[in-house]
Amino acid sequence: MRLAKRIEKLPPYLFVEISRKIAEKRAKGEEVISFGIGDPDFPTPSHIIERLCLAAQDPANHRYPETAGLPKLRQAITGWYKKRFGVSLDADKEVLPLIGAKEGIVHIALCFIDPHDIALVPDPAYPPYTLGTILACGRPYYMPLIEENGFLPDLNAIPAGVLKQARLLWINYPNNPTGAVASIDFFNRVVKLARQHNLAVCHDGPYTEAAFDGYQPVSFMQADGAKEVGVEFHSLSKIYNMTGWRIGMVVGNADMVDALKRVKSNMDSGIPQAIQYAGIEALTGPQESIQEQNAKYQKRRDLVVDMLNRIGVEARSPKAGLYVWAKVPGGYTSVDFADDLLEQVGVVVTPGIGYGKSGEGYVRLSLTISDADLVKGLSRLAEWHDRKAGLEQRSKLT
Ligand SMILES: *Cc1c(COP(=O)(O)O)cnc(C)c1O
Repeated sequence: MRLAKRIEKLPPYLFVEISRKIAEKRAKGEEVISFGIGDPDFPTPSHIIERLCLAAQDPANHRYPETAGLPKLRQAITGWYKKRFGVSLDADKEVLPLIGAKEGIVHIALCFIDPHDIALVPDPAYPPYTLGTILACGRPYYMPLIEENGFLPDLNAIPAGVLKQARLLWINYPNNPTGAVASIDFFNRVVKLARQHNLAVCHDGPYTEAAFDGYQPVSFMQADGAKEVGVEFHSLSKIYNMTGWRIGMVVGNADMVDALKRVKSNMDSGIPQAIQYAGIEALTGPQESIQEQNAKYQKRRDLVVDMLNRIGVEARSPKAGLYVWAKVPGGYTSVDFADDLLEQVGVVVTPGIGYGKSGEGYVRLSLTISDADLVKGLSRLAEWHDRKAGLEQRSKLT
């Protein structure tokens, strides 16, 4: 048998190799502390679980759900967007619940990418933007996110020939992995570019609620004319610690939402209804847990950034998101540095190259690590530094 080319074209998954090394260490009885995974360690708030349990008892929820989701869930989503961002959405035409944002992110490529069409994809980025493009037999064109530009893509640097063949434009703020944020002014410029070149914009915004120091991230939907050119993917995963329940949404341009609904109605049968009820409870119930959680993440962020800078690993304090993007010290590639930390002190960080070529020179540390592990991990980073300093000292003496 022969695999389809689209499968062969999928890039090798760097993280498989890291997982193998971690498993090897653990098998030897060594304790590994991981800053690698972006998955909230806090539990789903209890009122949401209680609603889920209640809904699970109702036989009506044991049957096939609909792709479009319960009208009440779509209304809960429009209510949340109105309250949080002041954005009005039509619950029937401009909202579609998803089996997690990732599902919609990959499938929307099938709606807009014909073979050889281009999708504009940030580099570094969350891998599914590229993977969806490749599965649709399209080509990603990478827009470098560099520090000098605040990790925003330089929209003026995209060649005219590329823009002509481009159908989709991907952006993601607060950004994973760089921790950068975008202003409404940037989103307005994206809308302008999309209008000029007939691009469909996909903004991925699952981290709008994870913000620090009083900062409030904006939604792409708040940009002037955003609804004419694009959609926003969002998710309950990071806001309510529901990564395992699989529930997210896409909102915005009615034609784009409808196209995705057409693909999905032929592929899946929607989100299990009990989980939809849990989602309604999450979006409409008490929201205090978000602020409490952010206070905890903020403390972790400060501890991580302080330690990194103390050991000579340059890192800026992110205003939002769940990641610290740190510069690899001189003489290492991102993979070498991650390997060295794992080998020397059993600490896992993610090499930036795993998110794209422009991620080289950086590593990502996730703040979704328990406080106990965080403290342990940080003291190991200090130990790594002391050992290295000791070695350098000794090599100078000899
Ligand atoms: C976590 C994350 C998502 C959300 O994924 P779900 O499928 O909803 O769990 C989407 N985009 C980015 C950039 C993420 O980091």
